[in-house]
Amino acid sequence: MKQRTLSIIKPDAVKAGYIGDILSRFQKEGLHIVAMRMTQLSQSQAEGFYAVHRERPFFGELVEFMTSGPIVAITLEADDAIQGYRTLMGATDPAKADEGTLRKLYASNVQNNAVHGSDSPENAQIEIAYFFSALDLVG
Ligand code: GDP
Repeated sequence: MKQRTLSIIKPDAVKAGYIGDILSRFQKEGLHIVAMRMTQLSQSQAEGFYAVHRERPFFGELVEFMTSGPIVAITLEADDAIQGYRTLMGATDPAKADEGTLRKLYASNVQNNAVHGSDSPENAQIEIAYFFSALDLVG
């Protein structure tokens, strides 16, 4: 069944020049881009996006990192897109990520880990709507 998920290319990967490599990987893996935009999150936008992590000890640092430069938000569509994209991303900590995953290739550490991906259909719907209106989604 076709499913959509939200990907973010985080500020570390944008700064390091990996946008093109990551987009090309989506295409190779059959993850279809149905919406895309570059933006820089304000503090309140980043806090809102990561609200579920508000109580975690690293919340302040995470918000600081996510507002530190431009990001690229992308809606991907494929059969089983959520799990497929999470497998492509690899473990949160790049030291634990499998060879060939985006985080193994492009991440620096557990926080500056290059990419975000939704973790459930409910969160995918909320996260896609955080960045895109229905009119932005192609197909
Ligand atoms: P994800 O679903 O793999 O992105 O991981 P989580 O939902 O657990 O965490 C959200 C984001 O918070 C991660 O992608 C990291 O950028 C950051 N993060 C997770 N764990 C840590 C940590 O232990 N320390 C710091 N500073 N950031 C973390």
